[in-house]
Amino acid sequence: MTDFLIKGGLIMTMEPDALSGRIIPNGAVAITGNEIEAVGTTEEVEQKISAPRQVVQADGKIIMPGFVCIHTHMPYVLGHNMPVDFSQLKSFWDMLQKMGWEWLEDITTPEGIYAATRYAAMKMLKSGTTTVCEIVEGPNALGKTPSPLEASAMAVDEIGIRAQIGFEVTERIPGVSILEKLSPEMAEKGLEENFNFLSRFPPKNGGRIEGRLAIHEAYTNSFNTLKKARELADRFKCGIQIHVAEIPRAFLVEKFGKSAPQVLEECGVLGSDTIAVHCIDLSDEDFEIFRRNNVNVAHTPMTNSLGGNGVANVPHMLEIGLNVGLGHDCFFTLDISEYFRYMYLIHKAHNANPMLIPPFQALDIAIRNGAKAMGLLNEIGSLKEGKKADLIVIDPDSPTPVMPSSLISFLCSTWQGRQVEHVFVDGRPVVFGGRLTTGNEDEIKAECLKEAKNLWKRNGIEI
Ligand SMILES: [Zn+2]
Repeated sequence: MTDFLIKGGLIMTMEPDALSGRIIPNGAVAITGNEIEAVGTTEEVEQKISAPRQVVQADGKIIMPGFVCIHTHMPYVLGHNMPVDFSQLKSFWDMLQKMGWEWLEDITTPEGIYAATRYAAMKMLKSGTTTVCEIVEGPNALGKTPSPLEASAMAVDEIGIRAQIGFEVTERIPGVSILEKLSPEMAEKGLEENFNFLSRFPPKNGGRIEGRLAIHEAYTNSFNTLKKARELADRFKCGIQIHVAEIPRAFLVEKFGKSAPQVLEECGVLGSDTIAVHCIDLSDEDFEIFRRNNVNVAHTPMTNSLGGNGVANVPHMLEIGLNVGLGHDCFFTLDISEYFRYMYLIHKAHNANPMLIPPFQALDIAIRNGAKAMGLLNEIGSLKEGKKADLIVIDPDSPTPVMPSSLISFLCSTWQGRQVEHVFVDGRPVVFGGRLTTGNEDEIKAECLKEAKNLWKRNGIEI
């Protein structure tokens, strides 16, 4: 029996992609269990299905696949707008060492991870993101109960977003400069956390939550640790997520005599199951390494701008056939429309070329390419019979008509996450009428605020 029939809306299928996918006025999507039973005109779909349990009228609204964020750190929510001494942040190194590590990750607790992840997942769902790829970072939360990944998974399970989650493997010692000393024992703890989680949430387990092994970076790990991480990922066939080349290439060349892509290729880390995050300072040879290893790239333009890291050469990546998806790192709002629009615009400005990243390509990056990067394109990333029912319904706030010929422009130029009305993940209406159905929004926010206060106090901030 059909569970939901969403009908009367303007459907963007994105199958086989945004440019050539069917756009259907007065369209409908039928959902049975966690799958899409039928997609087409309302008439076509109503003929195909049995009487639905619930009808959702979507007249004047847009029905489309949910957005896919392929890189973030949800616990970073606790550090949003923290009034730290910004005069200490003079370079990207300072931002990493102090803002990222000392003032945030190293004082993050499992309770903080749980509260922030619930809040972030809620906000992401409410603004149209249905899938997220998450790296949890919090070295001093290891060994506690729940563990960092357990805390993250509890929150994700409760709120209802789809996620792949890993804990960063790093030899970095909290409180010690990475230029002074690294410790393989620290990495062992991270590997163990990933192993335990992957044993519980292996890929293709039929649920919404899967493990994906996470590595911090080439420069905070030894060859040996990087190789071990690849071995663990291969054992579970879970794929890898790793930050690559957000810092100047010269640093790696000085340390290893090689660039990050060269090091990672030698260790076997790179592959078609790898999501490489940032990827800013790359040489032609580095790009060739990425190309021959079919690496997926997570593009995070807003964080890269904040850190003054430069602009990743996404147009070139797309030209050489790399799969590029969109990430956000959780430094700003959790509304994917902001990251999406920034990505849509920045390459035009940076290259003084308005032809770069046309609207249909921007949508592919933010939805289909992300699903492909996570190895989930057979399940999500478009509206197609038999795929998982992960979709959003937008009530467009537009001063001009939203119709098949203007839909893609509307999404690139005008759409904002607050216009999302309903969100289905795995066939379940997790947001309905703009409200989260899986929890109490006020309680989730209050708990997050409490944990943010606790973390800020650890930094000596009076509240
Ligand atoms: Zn990151």
